[in-house]
Amino acid sequence: METIEAPNVIIGAGAMGSAAAYHLARRGAPVVLVEQFAIGHDRGSSHGAARITRHSYADPRYARLMPAAFRIWRELEADAGEPLYIRTGGVSFSPPGVDYAARVAASLAELDVPHWRGTGAEFNRIQPAFGLPAGEDVVFEPDAGLLAASRAVALQVELARKLGGDRTRVLEQTPVRRIDLDGERPAVVTDEHRIIADRLIVAAGAWVSRLIPDLPVPVRVTRQQVLYFRPADPSPFQIGRFPVFIYQGAGEDDAFYGMPDFLGLGVKAARHGGPEVDPDANSPLIGEAYRAEVRRFLRGHIPALGDAAIGLTEVCLYTVAPDEEFHVDFLPVRRDVLVASPCSGHGFKFSSLIGRVLADLATTGATELPVDHWRFSGGNP
Ligand SMILES: Cc1cc2nc3c(=O)[nH]c(=O)nc-3n(C[C@H](O)[C@H](O)[C@H](O)COP(=O)(O)OP(=O)(O)OC[C@H]3O[C@@H](n4cnc5c(N)ncnc54)[C@H](O)[C@@H]3O)c2cc1C
Repeated sequence: METIEAPNVIIGAGAMGSAAAYHLARRGAPVVLVEQFAIGHDRGSSHGAARITRHSYADPRYARLMPAAFRIWRELEADAGEPLYIRTGGVSFSPPGVDYAARVAASLAELDVPHWRGTGAEFNRIQPAFGLPAGEDVVFEPDAGLLAASRAVALQVELARKLGGDRTRVLEQTPVRRIDLDGERPAVVTDEHRIIADRLIVAAGAWVSRLIPDLPVPVRVTRQQVLYFRPADPSPFQIGRFPVFIYQGAGEDDAFYGMPDFLGLGVKAARHGGPEVDPDANSPLIGEAYRAEVRRFLRGHIPALGDAAIGLTEVCLYTVAPDEEFHVDFLPVRRDVLVASPCSGHGFKFSSLIGRVLADLATTGATELPVDHWRFSGGNP
């Protein structure tokens, strides 16, 4: 058993852990990054070609953080020398009686983010690929777009290695069996290592409560099923002609999202949310009932996709906290253990910013970014 002592240790090389490693290495801080699978694996929450990014949040506390998140993604693109954000425009819509689009519009107005608001009938005239019910409430944000997800994770690990040199150590295929918190410093135990950390960052996604059984907030792990459609005429669904979309209906489960054809994979569409699942037993198979549900939504909103062929499917995991709130904070009992559990199906766009927050908290104990509402106490002292 090798004993390693390190100032900063990160468990998990997904969107959050890789971002924290990159931001720590960027400021010259030594870091050990431990991942149970290979970097870029498809067993967690961060794989796949793309994720939606937007300022369009019904919750203004999240919307207010997006200008900073967009800026920090720009810095990563500059360090990496390649684009990760693709501007496609984004449409948020909800039926009469559901105030989702109205709250999105209010957030965008508060931030002075350019946007258009109108009805389903008006939007269908602007975007003929859509066939929204005439009375739908619709908000269009030109700056919304895609983030190249898997590429971003790979680049952050690459940059952590490049910027950190021998101050960065990445242990792949190295499952952490447990975290010992009874000593003066936290220790991470794997089959071959005992890693003693000055500061430990737990960015373990769906496995977080296995490593921290008495996590201050309950989280549920749910199965996400993604479909990629191949419409007979793909041209109206290309980037530049078709926006990312987010729909919130009356029921909690009545929420769907999707994006234009990216990298030739087809038009992505999925329901937001799914059944609880064991993260180690997430079957890749997607049943007929779910496919029919997504098709039903598409027939009523983007008709050309409703009966299109499905060319590809993908499964993934959400780690869902109450109210879909993020949690990025020190454990109440230990000021040397940070937990990053920001998912609930909308964390990727914030991962660059969360990496910055984790590096700030790990190196100085504080951050200037206004994320108190992500504390376990919810920002209450
Ligand atoms: C289908 C889908 C669509 C989404 N769409 C969007 C979107 O459009 N926009 C958006 O902003 N967000 C979106 N999200 C959410 C976003 O992708 C997640 O919030 C984000 O990827 C979470 O990253 P993470 O680093 O917390 O989790 P992960 O990427 O799962 O990383 C956790 C890592 O920890 C490792 N790990 C766990 N336990 C151990 C252990 N014991 N030892 C070592 N390593 C361990 C895991 O193997 C994993 O690599 C979506 C998520 C899904 C699933």
